[in-house]
Amino acid sequence: MIYFVGAGPGASDLITVRGQRLLECAEIVIYTGSLVNPALLESVREDCEVHNSAFMTLSQVLEVMERGAETGKEIVRLHTGDPCLYGAIREQMDGLDARGLPYEVCPGVSSFCGAAASLKAEYTLPGLTQSVIITRAPGNTDVPRQEALSALASHGASMVLFLSAGLLPQVRDSLLQGAYTEDTPCAIVYKATWEDEIIVRGPLHRLPEMARENGIEKTALIVVGEFLEGGYELSRLYAPDFSTAFRQGTKPPE
Ligand code: SAH
Repeated sequence: MIYFVGAGPGASDLITVRGQRLLECAEIVIYTGSLVNPALLESVREDCEVHNSAFMTLSQVLEVMERGAETGKEIVRLHTGDPCLYGAIREQMDGLDARGLPYEVCPGVSSFCGAAASLKAEYTLPGLTQSVIITRAPGNTDVPRQEALSALASHGASMVLFLSAGLLPQVRDSLLQGAYTEDTPCAIVYKATWEDEIIVRGPLHRLPEMARENGIEKTALIVVGEFLEGGYELSRLYAPDFSTAFRQGTKPPE
């Protein structure tokens, strides 16, 4: 069987229990060398064949998978964070479908969750925003025109930008065309949950400088929005007068 496994955001103990077990059983591992923590590879079997996909093309990845599957090997394709975001797994799954090879996907902790944990932040605050926009600036991969940052910024929702740390002047300018202001709080989270993680906070107008002053050009998330600092309302779920299937609410005292 072939398993696409989310490796988590960085720290090697942030892989899921299922992912760790699959890794320990694997006879072939193909890992995303640019971002997966190499410490995770310490738990593979001694006879495991390990490939770094940073040096491979899609067809080479598929060849390794096909060869392994034909000889009945357990194969793990280890992707950073959760494979469903910017993981290029669809093209691999389509390639496997075309070859009639079965596979499964084991989710992981995405870096946008790792970053929130490091920031001790909640993206969805009542009274402030109930939406998180996950996007990127156009780079090697284009972004559809209707998803332009300036258009997405019109919502003023919490926003997480992947793959954009090298494009911050244009990111800032585009975001300022929407509902964010020069003072909207932002953070750059470099290598969230890794030992050399760096967090820089500041107002949107300083975004490019914040990265430059800290030498950050890649492996970072940009998070933007009032959720980083703004006021909010208490949740209804834990309000004393709110009844749920599990708890009978009481009327608040007059
Ligand atoms: N599937 C991954 C994202 C892969 S795209 C996930 O769910 O996290 C690669 C981009 O993800 C990087 O350019 C960077 O923007 C972001 N990224 C991945 N790991 C990161 C980390 N530990 N800290 C900050 N950003 C990270």
